[in-house]
Amino acid sequence: MLTGPRDGYDPSQVTDMKKISIVVPCYNEEATVEQYHNTVADLWDSSHLSEHYLRELIFINDGSSDNTRDLIMRLSERDQTVRYTFFSRNFGKEAAIFCGLKQATGDAVVVMDCDLQHPPAAMVEMISKWEEGFDIVEGIKSTRGKESRSHGFFAGLFYKMISRMVGFDMAGSSDYKLMDRKVVDTLNTLPEKATFFRALSYWVGYRQATVLYEVADRVGGESKWSGISLIKYAVSNLTSFTYAPLHLIAIVGTVIILIGIGLGIDAIISYFQGESVGGYPSLVILITLATGGIMLSLGVIAIYIAKMYSELKGRPRYVVDEQK
Ligand code: UDP
Ligand code: MG
Repeated sequence: MLTGPRDGYDPSQVTDMKKISIVVPCYNEEATVEQYHNTVADLWDSSHLSEHYLRELIFINDGSSDNTRDLIMRLSERDQTVRYTFFSRNFGKEAAIFCGLKQATGDAVVVMDCDLQHPPAAMVEMISKWEEGFDIVEGIKSTRGKESRSHGFFAGLFYKMISRMVGFDMAGSSDYKLMDRKVVDTLNTLPEKATFFRALSYWVGYRQATVLYEVADRVGGESKWSGISLIKYAVSNLTSFTYAPLHLIAIVGTVIILIGIGLGIDAIISYFQGESVGGYPSLVILITLATGGIMLSLGVIAIYIAKMYSELKGRPRYVVDEQK
């Protein structure tokens, strides 16, 4: 394998060492980015990794408004293995991950968070599974770290639905994973813009293995997720990955029609028996239920139409300001 000039190693040096690319999305991570870099560099130099693999550390700065950009620049001056892409604004973690996959030149690519919640040490096990012949090594959370009970419940429900769609058990799955070059090439050819990286790596197939890791606490700064943004994330990913909500509308619609037919028959029978049907309350209930149901169904359909519209426009999913 030839090393490219970008990885900072002497370009004239021909080596058969494999290269591992590490893709790190960063958004307002001034409190963590240096510590992250030092931890990975130390792990690399203190383990057998440095003897066997070249490394490429790709920071994707997702439009941070703090000092993250300057810190990454400084790291790249200090460490020749550091590369970066700066987005023109915040485009979201998915966009940052997929930009990193496009940038990566390694034989294997590891995606991990900048806040050290994904323990870099687990990468050693991921790489050895890759060497055993697995193409995708999924990082699976053995514990979910510090999160509320309701968050755990809804996350569990969400992953159950997604798991049914992809046909794999996605419980505990995360964005921390290693992929072989061929998997990255496959992901890079997908034309859609609304991606869900966590599930797509299951969807592509290939030989898959898992590595368990414990979610660590953030080493600094704060999580970028609020309750609302998590709901948006769940809705966006469910609708980009499954048609289940549309099927659900059809099923609920059918059930409501059956109930309506039943009530109609009951009303006719009561009429001929001379019993009056309770008018106003039952009407109000029916109208409210039906209108609510219709509005909800239209809303779900609208989400899919909006998605189609946005895919149709074909805008790039991120704008690059600077790259190295
Ligand atoms: N991140 C990003 N763009 C965003 C939000 C987050 O690149 O719009 C990055 C963030 O810098 C971190 C990773 O995605 O490296 C995970 O984010 P965070 O720690 O906030 O999520 P949590 O771990 O709480 O799920
Ligand atoms: Mg985090």
